[in-house]
Amino acid sequence: MTAVYNFSAGPATLPGAVLTRAREELLDWHGSGMSVMEMSHRGTHFMSIAQQAEADLRELLVIPSDYHVLFLQGGATSQFSMVPMNLLRGRRQADYINTGAWSKKAIAEARRYCSVNVAASSEDSSFTTIPSVDNWQLDPGAAYVHYTPNETIGGVEFDWIPETGAVPLVADMSSTILSRPLDVTRFGLIYAGAQKNIGPAGLTVVIVRSELVGDVLDCTPAMFNYQSHAENGSMLNTPPTFGWYLAGLVFQWIREQGGLEAMAEVNQRKAGKLYEAIDRSDFYNSPVDPRYRSWMNAPFILADDSLDAEFLSQAGDAGLLNLKGHRSVGGMRASIYNAMPEAGVNALIDFMAEFERSRG
Ligand SMILES: *Cc1c(COP(=O)(O)O)cnc(C)c1O
Repeated sequence: MTAVYNFSAGPATLPGAVLTRAREELLDWHGSGMSVMEMSHRGTHFMSIAQQAEADLRELLVIPSDYHVLFLQGGATSQFSMVPMNLLRGRRQADYINTGAWSKKAIAEARRYCSVNVAASSEDSSFTTIPSVDNWQLDPGAAYVHYTPNETIGGVEFDWIPETGAVPLVADMSSTILSRPLDVTRFGLIYAGAQKNIGPAGLTVVIVRSELVGDVLDCTPAMFNYQSHAENGSMLNTPPTFGWYLAGLVFQWIREQGGLEAMAEVNQRKAGKLYEAIDRSDFYNSPVDPRYRSWMNAPFILADDSLDAEFLSQAGDAGLLNLKGHRSVGGMRASIYNAMPEAGVNALIDFMAEFERSRG
């Protein structure tokens, strides 16, 4: 097999050890004679897989027992509706922090259900920074405050957790969950599509304080009601069983690496050396405020954008794949989630230096 490093923003690279294990177990899971894909979700085999995955995630993130952990479908995008449907709880407005493309999508969807107060925005800086907390206009009567700790497209990431007092804090952690330790108790609800840092596309993880669920908008479908999912152990209908299983393998892999502290150490080092390489030369530039540069998604531009196509094609020849930036930002973007080995980042840095030598 060709060795490649896949810098895709999502679906993204998975740990090699996880894929190998999945291959070994693919046709016959633990002597069951069946693939996980073929098992009843209510049978003892899959129930043990599901429970182990939840237990491992709870241990990794130190999730208190008064939080539900839900394994759902519909992507983070469905959460843009599920959050207001479930968390408005009789109120009519919610606060949103606008830090980029994913914040904007969450805001647009929430506007179907409530009055959205954009309490802070970095749009006037083209989303290259986080708005200073001194200027946030939080509404104490808001049902919740929603923010996006890591903007996958713009590459800006909070290095602090907003303080919202009694108002529940909601976070779209799709591209940063499990990248470092997290104080879950600061949040009312955390959600994440799996395809960045958890597993394959098709699974969405929701962590929600149990006292917040149960009082939904009248129009809420059962599939969009956290309480129905919680009461049914995320088996209101057939769950995404294979994705749940693979997520469980990823959680085990993270535990084997030393847990979230170890992940954080490696992630900080990987991001640090990549940004250092970008800053070292005028050939490459990072558009993002240095304080808020993401550990997970590093956009960068070539000073001479007429070289973009050649950069991408030579990178591809070198086995460095999917470095093209999002169409809204241009340039390049290297997504370096947990599963991206440090050797992949080193290979990218070496390639960038070599490309600069030959073209700069
Ligand atoms: C990828 C992503 C989404 C969209 O996820 P889907 O699973 O495609 O709905 C939403 N928010 C963030 C921060 C993302 O990175």
